[in-house]
Amino acid sequence: MADRTFEDLAKLPISVRRVCAGEGVLTSAAEVYCQPRERSLDVDACEGCADYAGLMLELDGRRKYVLCRRLNAETARALQPSIPPIARRLPVDNPSPGDRTPVAQIMTTDVICVREDLSLTALATLLLERNLSGVPVVDLAGRPIGVISKTDLLRRDGAPGCVAEVMTPMSFVLHPEASVSQAAALMAFEGAHRLPVVSDDGKVVGLVSSLDLMRWLGRLDGYLTRA
Ligand code: SF4
Repeated sequence: MADRTFEDLAKLPISVRRVCAGEGVLTSAAEVYCQPRERSLDVDACEGCADYAGLMLELDGRRKYVLCRRLNAETARALQPSIPPIARRLPVDNPSPGDRTPVAQIMTTDVICVREDLSLTALATLLLERNLSGVPVVDLAGRPIGVISKTDLLRRDGAPGCVAEVMTPMSFVLHPEASVSQAAALMAFEGAHRLPVVSDDGKVVGLVSSLDLMRWLGRLDGYLTRA
């Protein structure tokens, strides 16, 4: 494979999924979605591949990428599936900044998730310690099956139990290439405050919240916000 320039290498985002299960044991996995293999891989496996060209850290330190020689940047974009429309939309003359910005640019890529068997006591501790208002519930493979929030916990009023008894089953997810406008429309129409973002093989690779959307809007209008 001929050497490519840095600009031409595909930049594949690394996501970190931290999953809390049972009585609160936290495990983590750093993964990248490999388009040629059509599945998510541990970054360690990627590092052993002949097409691995290194890691890249964004200037603000929030995101990490695998640089891949197998795909060039253009092919990587073209391979993304088209996003079905979320709600009927009136025709617009020009795409807005929200149409042109993928949720991959604003989502959290270090995501805390929980499993169904996590006790509600351990969940309450996790939410308080990490200052979270809700988290996705994932299966063993890291695919989302529900969401659970502080409000769900409050409804239980301290009664013992586990996440499976309280969570809301998963209805909506986004692809990293979905636009910020689509994320906003989905949240507004469905009353969802946070949506899991999934790779082509259905694993959680990010989380986008209504707060992420507001921060993006504030920055777009020139207001500087804390990272
Ligand atoms: S470096 Fe290899 S394993 Fe990693 S994404 Fe590219 S082709 Fe896949």
